[in-house]
Amino acid sequence: MGQSVTTDLLGQKALLPNGLPWDEQDASARQATLTRILIRISREALQGASLDSLMQGICDCLVAELPVAIVSVLLLDDDNSHFVHEVCAGEFTQSPLAVAGKWPVTVGAAGRCVQLGRPHLIRDTATDPDYVPGNATARSEFLVPIRHGRRLHGVLNLECARTDFFDSESCAVFEAVADLVAGAIHFARIADELTEANRRLEQLSMRDALTGIANRRQFDARLAQAWARQAREGAPLALLLADVDFFKALNDSAGHLRGDECLRRLARICERFAVNEHDLVARYGGEEFVLLLPARTPEGAIAQAEALRRAVAEEALPHPASALAKHVTVSVGVAALVPAADASPEQLVAAADRALYDAKSGGRDRVAWRDSA
Ligand code: GH3
Ligand code: MG
Ligand code: MG
Repeated sequence: MGQSVTTDLLGQKALLPNGLPWDEQDASARQATLTRILIRISREALQGASLDSLMQGICDCLVAELPVAIVSVLLLDDDNSHFVHEVCAGEFTQSPLAVAGKWPVTVGAAGRCVQLGRPHLIRDTATDPDYVPGNATARSEFLVPIRHGRRLHGVLNLECARTDFFDSESCAVFEAVADLVAGAIHFARIADELTEANRRLEQLSMRDALTGIANRRQFDARLAQAWARQAREGAPLALLLADVDFFKALNDSAGHLRGDECLRRLARICERFAVNEHDLVARYGGEEFVLLLPARTPEGAIAQAEALRRAVAEEALPHPASALAKHVTVSVGVAALVPAADASPEQLVAAADRALYDAKSGGRDRVAWRDSA
């Protein structure tokens, strides 16, 4: 289009294939131009740039190097009922998609291309009833479905001020460009799905499958974080370790499924006591739950442990084989300290563990506390 130098997809200056405007190129020079554009776009598509920047680069490249007034990539929503995303280059008068945010496929030549499901040449836009003007000078339009396998992703749309530009050679190149865009969309979607699957796996690896609360792995990580934070602030960190009394006897008498249900109910009760932003309730082991409670004094933590013990008793979960009561009870060990430079989080856990042992040996269904292991 009269330029001898253009900017390629990488932003580097590149000579037009033979330095001549399109109109001054003979048939073989034009063919060479199309081929080189296609090679360049193919290379770019394999570079793994973000999808939008790749599509923008393609549109810019086609508008810069060929006598097309506008180029756009219109992407469909999941049920192929609307175009919902557009990347374009050239002199657009007004894009209906930009105005409305989405554009039904029942409207316009691009919509018709979706319905037909095949490339579509409009030789004279003035006589096409579906044509929606995108550029005042456009006389012809070529539309190609962007399809990967059976999945239709959108439409590549090119509009030209002349009526003789879209011939079999140029159209073949644009069909190949649409295929490249389809491949890039496909791989971008796979990458998104993988990222999402990894995020879900990461979440799952931090959860206890039976109760849905945090597991030991997450507890260990959060304990280390809370320890460092409280140490920085010189603030206390409390730990409650709650262990079901005579749980083995519950399993033996009522069955493991009832035991499982009991653990789920206890997890829900424990959750009620993790109220602050950095509080955490986790399943520490078999029938042991842990509450990580930053910024609680020993007195505050003991009061919370006592409230938890009472809440479990008041839930009155049946226990047919407890030596203490007809319902499930828990013993709770409490430890709270301000993390010191020469101490470690394990010491806090050990102190809560000792306190739990005290509560058990003191008769169970009670709270005990230790300030150090
Ligand atoms: P104590 O009062 O001294 O705590 O006695 P206990 O019977 O509660 O403790 P013990 O350590 O002897 O038994 C714990 C039982 O918890 C043994 C184990 O089979 C059971 N358990 C561990 N994980 C699960 C689980 O996921 N589901 C069920 N149903 N039982 C479990
Ligand atoms: Mg136990
Ligand atoms: Mg127990």
